[in-house]
Amino acid sequence: MSFDVYKIRNHFPILRDKIYGKPLVYLDNGATTQKPLPVIECINAIHRHGNSSIHRGVHYLSDQATDAYEKARQIVQQFIHAKHSHEIIFTSGTTASINGLAFSFGERYIHEGDEIIITEMEHHANIVPWQMLCERKNTKLKVIPFNDDGILQLDEMEKMINKKTRLVAVIHASNTLATINPVKSIVSLAHKYNIPVIIDGAQSVPHIPIDVQEMDCDFFVFSGHKMYGPTGIGILYGKEKWLSDMPPFQGGGEMVDVVTFEKTTYNQLPYKFEAGTMNYVGAIGLGRAVEFILSAGQENIIRHEHDLLKYAVGRLDELGYITLYGRAPEKTSIVSFNIWDVHPYDAGMVLDKMGIAVRTGTHCAQTVMQHYGIEGNIRASFALYNTSEEIDYMVEGIKKVKSMFSG
Ligand code: PMP
Repeated sequence: MSFDVYKIRNHFPILRDKIYGKPLVYLDNGATTQKPLPVIECINAIHRHGNSSIHRGVHYLSDQATDAYEKARQIVQQFIHAKHSHEIIFTSGTTASINGLAFSFGERYIHEGDEIIITEMEHHANIVPWQMLCERKNTKLKVIPFNDDGILQLDEMEKMINKKTRLVAVIHASNTLATINPVKSIVSLAHKYNIPVIIDGAQSVPHIPIDVQEMDCDFFVFSGHKMYGPTGIGILYGKEKWLSDMPPFQGGGEMVDVVTFEKTTYNQLPYKFEAGTMNYVGAIGLGRAVEFILSAGQENIIRHEHDLLKYAVGRLDELGYITLYGRAPEKTSIVSFNIWDVHPYDAGMVLDKMGIAVRTGTHCAQTVMQHYGIEGNIRASFALYNTSEEIDYMVEGIKKVKSMFSG
């Protein structure tokens, strides 16, 4: 399938906008991606002609909305190659999925004195819920370190595992270092000791094909808004054996079977975990986003983003005054860097005035910054619609920043 980035860009109306009179150069895709017309129009069409609460009514609109919602579940199931569609739980995003797991998995399987293993490169969303659980249950968090290139020290993981280890929770692709972690090896190592593994796929799903069965992970979580879909929708995938055994993390309508004042029994999977009026508009929009990714071609996306990454690293390295964080051989399309003698916020503000959107700060990964002893950095994260011309323009901006702030 041929890939023409300029044709792809036509699907994204916002990319034609001007910021301070300059063309928008949107390089903050790690935070959230822009939305293509099929997703925008799908959401619009639901609100105009298809809106109704799902799983509730016998009327036409409710049926239509329910069918579309359940179809979206199947689209996601096929996209990540889950065995069953009832292993796909809709949530409001990665953060909600992990918090839900910390509650449900934690309630059922984590006890005083147990241990949970995470990595030094986690997003806060995969640190704080576990710390909160540790406080509730008096358990301990252990951390697999990474080296200065941003590569996990997996030999340390095996040393950490012991009879008290109950869970491993790992980021698939780092939102700061861009490292794609060898999750298959991590899962097989953990499974050797019968320890389940949660993968945070927020930064991998938009960029690389996912096969949860091949990975053999126990749980896999991600967000719709980072993969061209709507905000407020995300996925919690779990193997059936875990999901059927775990208690729900929220109580309310739809997640129940029989409710009496004495006792309530729960609905079957996946509804047991979908309490209240779900974000069916978001779920259906997410299904459209998946179809958009598939129509662009995942191989094309990989190739294009890999070219962008290589080009950006080359252009930054040739400047001679850039420190780049994360040089793992397997990376997604993110460059995290600092300009020598320039505060990242100053750089971000100058770039902003040129119409360039980059992220500055700690990117919800303070422990990564602590590793390098820095307060923060600049992150440019590329998506399938970015171009090498935009990278050139960013480099022009960086030169301007350098001359303004450090002579
Ligand atoms: N994990 C990773 C790796 C992320 O990059 C993010 C978003 N920056 C999250 C979790 C949290 O995602 P959300 O805010 O969509 O819940």
